[in-house]
Parts: sequence; structure tokens; C-alpha cells
Amino acid sequence: MKISPNINSQKMVTLTAQQKHVLFEKGTEAAFTGKYWDNHDAGMYVCAACDNELFSSDTKFDSGTGWPSFYAPVAKENVMMDSDTTYGMIRTEVMCNRCGGHLGHVFDDGPKPTGQRFCINSASLDFKKKDTQVIKSSP
Ligand code: FE
Repeated sequence: MKISPNINSQKMVTLTAQQKHVLFEKGTEAAFTGKYWDNHDAGMYVCAACDNELFSSDTKFDSGTGWPSFYAPVAKENVMMDSDTTYGMIRTEVMCNRCGGHLGHVFDDGPKPTGQRFCINSASLDFKKKDTQVIKSSP
């Protein structure tokens, strides 16, 4: 795939070979091997290649699949979808709308309120943990 100019070149050098395979060759990490399928911290999942905000922890749910799963993107316009007919299946591919990096697929068997299940590779994501509030003690 053509490398988008929106990809953060400083981030590119930090990506592992597996991350590049998933993002730019539409690879899939093995289930239950990624960094985030079992992450329950509050925060924002951003694109590993360009920092685009993709999914909030508020929409993350335990799908049992071994991949981070969300019922909605943080904003519709931050992702793009395309029909994917590889491997003898009809699926809807999800990509980052800023850099075109492959994220995963979306299925119609998700929970309420959307009924959608965004099944996303950890390799395509970075997690920005929500700042925990620091309570300042009096001087
Ligand atoms: Fe991106």
C-alpha cells in the first residue's frame, strides 16, 4: 500500500515488523496475543501510525474473541470502511481515515446501543491512558 503522508514518521520508526504487517499489509494478530484485548483502563485508543483518535475505552467491551472490541468509533469520520471479500468471507474492513492503516473488521453482532462489534488489532493501536487526577495536598 502507498504510505500516506499523514503517517507520523517519528512513530513509523517505533513500529514493530508485526505492526507494519497489520497496518500496511492488512495482517491480523493472533487472538489473545495483543497488548490491549484485556486492557480495562480508561483512556483513548489512537492509530499506532498517525495518532488519530479511534476508539474510547467507554465503548470497549469484552467480546471473548481475544481482540480489543468496541461498539463504536470515537467519531464516524475518524474511521473508514470497505468491503473485504478475502479468505472466502464477506466482511467489512475498518481503516484509519487519516492514514489508511488497517485496523480490523466490523460485525453486526455487537452489544447495545449500536449492535456493532469493531474487532480491532492491538497492533494497530496505541493507548493513551486518561490522566488520573492528582490531588494536591496543602502546603
Ligand atoms: Fe492512522
